[in-house]
Amino acid sequence: MGEESKKEDTSLVLPRPSIAALRPYSSARDEFTGQAEVYLDANENPFDNGKNRYPDPLARAVKERLSDLKGVPVANIMLGNGSDEVIDLLFRIFCEPGRDQVITLPPTYGMYRVSADINQVEVVEVPLLPGFQPNVDAILAQASHRTKILWLCTPNNPSGNDFAATDVRRLLDEFPGLVVIDEAYIDFATRDSYAKLLAQYPNLVVLQTFSKAWGLAGIRLGMAFAAERIIGLLNAVKPPYNVNQLTQRAALEALDHHQQQQRQVSEIRQERLRMSKALQDLPFVQEVYPSAANFLLVQVEQPRYWYNYLMEQGIIVRDRSTQYLCAGCLRFTVGTVAENDRLLAALTTANSSVA
Ligand SMILES: *Cc1c(COP(=O)(O)O)cnc(C)c1O
Repeated sequence: MGEESKKEDTSLVLPRPSIAALRPYSSARDEFTGQAEVYLDANENPFDNGKNRYPDPLARAVKERLSDLKGVPVANIMLGNGSDEVIDLLFRIFCEPGRDQVITLPPTYGMYRVSADINQVEVVEVPLLPGFQPNVDAILAQASHRTKILWLCTPNNPSGNDFAATDVRRLLDEFPGLVVIDEAYIDFATRDSYAKLLAQYPNLVVLQTFSKAWGLAGIRLGMAFAAERIIGLLNAVKPPYNVNQLTQRAALEALDHHQQQQRQVSEIRQERLRMSKALQDLPFVQEVYPSAANFLLVQVEQPRYWYNYLMEQGIIVRDRSTQYLCAGCLRFTVGTVAENDRLLAALTTANSSVA
């Protein structure tokens, strides 16, 4: 038997009983999807202003474009009101409140914990190892029949690094629950998406977003790639019109101008390298961590001092110094050349005046 059959024998992660029994809402646009001349089925206002009709509940046009771009079949794509909506939906679908649990690997994206708390789901934290790589043995040792989801963020926020592929593969092979790989920063990395492995892993969910590389944080659009079974559950539980028409239009427009996104990503990557080198040369900078994302985690002496100083200069960065393994760390998003120059100028001037 080849790779394909690797996980076929393991039991699938089941949805909560109330979700398994759910009869989803059927909207007017679900019940009639063809083209007609007169629509009198959805109680819309008939006067055309370009926005008076309900949007396609499944955003089919956007998914078709994404399918071409990502090499993932339409049936394996779900779109959410940001990836944050998909994160919440996964908790609601798979985790019984007060009973089930999930694993996160701090320091990581804060929404996994917030969504867990909202859904009254216990979070088991298995901290990353120094170097910000997953502790695979400890993760597997923590997993029980109640552990429904493992949240892997790679490239990881706030550390910026990509997890070792061998670790990710071992977790995909051996973790008994759902493995969610949050690839919000994938476009700034150099590897392929783990969505390429969907056919081999029925319990894999890959999340991506229009909020970072696509420059569309304002439209709120997140993507989930997963087996059809999981996509079906996400579609059944999501609000019928969760991705509005303006968002669908903006996404199609951005997909038409994919080259512009690629140019911006390559400029941001160049700036990431330039900033990383320049920051390393500052005497109060202790470490600039390697980044596969559009930000740099930087360890400094007196992070609070620098945070406040930069704020006075009109530059807002993120203080991550209270996070696990992040003592002394600020997180700098990579900006435009002019913005990055301004950050460097502020840090350099202050340094010479303090010294
Ligand atoms: C920014 C970010 C997201 C994006 O969430 P959206 O709701 O799509 O804006 C998701 N995951 C991580 C790790 C992020 O840093």
